[in-house]
Amino acid sequence: MLDVQANFQLGSLNTLRLECVAEYYVCVSSVEELKEAVLEAKRRRAEINLLGGGSNLILNRYLPGMTIHLGLSGRSVSEESNDHVVVCLQAGEDWHDAVLWANAEGYFGLENLALIPGSVGAGPVQNIGAYGVEISELIERVHVVDSQSGKNESLSADECGFGYRNSVFKSPKGKHLIISAIELRLSKHPHVTISYPALKDALPTGSVSPAQVLAAVIAIRQSKLPDPTSEANVGSFFKNPIVDRVTAERLQGEHPGMPQYPVDANTVKLSAAWMIDQLGWRGVEDLGVSISPKHALVMVNKTARYASEVIEFSNKITSSVAGAYGVVLEREPELIGTDTSV
Ligand SMILES: Cc1cc2nc3c(=O)[nH]c(=O)nc-3n(C[C@H](O)[C@H](O)[C@H](O)COP(=O)(O)OP(=O)(O)OC[C@H]3O[C@@H](n4cnc5c(N)ncnc54)[C@H](O)[C@@H]3O)c2cc1C
Repeated sequence: MLDVQANFQLGSLNTLRLECVAEYYVCVSSVEELKEAVLEAKRRRAEINLLGGGSNLILNRYLPGMTIHLGLSGRSVSEESNDHVVVCLQAGEDWHDAVLWANAEGYFGLENLALIPGSVGAGPVQNIGAYGVEISELIERVHVVDSQSGKNESLSADECGFGYRNSVFKSPKGKHLIISAIELRLSKHPHVTISYPALKDALPTGSVSPAQVLAAVIAIRQSKLPDPTSEANVGSFFKNPIVDRVTAERLQGEHPGMPQYPVDANTVKLSAAWMIDQLGWRGVEDLGVSISPKHALVMVNKTARYASEVIEFSNKITSSVAGAYGVVLEREPELIGTDTSV
């Protein structure tokens, strides 16, 4: 029996700790409950909002519709060969705990993605990535419940349409797909990816083990990112902008110190943190919100109660970067709900 609650407070379920009232809220712990919740939303003619760990969402004051909190738990091995395993992780599992589990079991490949907050199910949504690895590289299958048909489906990695912090699950084509579990192909042989400069610098020279990479990633993240359990934040507030080569060359001419990372023959990724830092925003506090002194991409909520304050502050930064560099910053976390109390 589903426990649907009306006018439910989501303040403790989002890492920016913004006040938000969900019209309806239900936490589901199995695929059957998830399907029931989808039917219940249909019966109430309520739009569906999905909630994992709330670490990549900006919740406005009021969230109309049915908020479905993914609480499905479980980890298992679904395929095994001499070289690989395919692990199946349920959507409500904590991502970092799953990374630690895989490493301890001797299943390698997730170490660079340690300490990313949130749930397993949200991982493919924005194709979580860090230190030179993206989850898309490891995805074997993504299991979903289609909220339009109410049926279960499985998507291959190709069908997930992965890109930089992007996937089909963010697009109108896939917004109705609710991830219930994911399967990842991991190596049984120690295997590391240490091409990312900051990670390479933190490791000893010579051969390193996955356990060393895991420890190094955790140490780097703890030193440069505010912990959302003590400082309310959603990690990177802006995506690194990708511009065409002509724009990149113009910017390099005007700002010779600007870091640039070629994506392909025609496009270049810029550092949003560098631009924000150059403009003196690091450590600045306004409207109860501040740019973390530790990292210029992270906005910390000190005392703001509502999303509107966070958005107002972030708009100042967006305008400042657009004015100085002619580059439009795009927000990474999704803003949902309305700015009215009911
Ligand atoms: C300190 C900090 C550091 C971070 N570092 C990184 C980083 O290095 N790399 C990175 O990529 N991200 C990073 N993030 C962002 C965030 O942790 C990830 O995006 C994470 O995957 C969000 O998980 P969540 O469960 O909290 O998602 P939520 O915030 O609950 O939801 C995020 C989005 O996914 C949708 N969603 C959630 N669950 C499902 C589901 N089961 N099926 C379909 N859609 C779903 C929601 O509707 C929403 O649109 C960081 C955040 C913080 C606070």
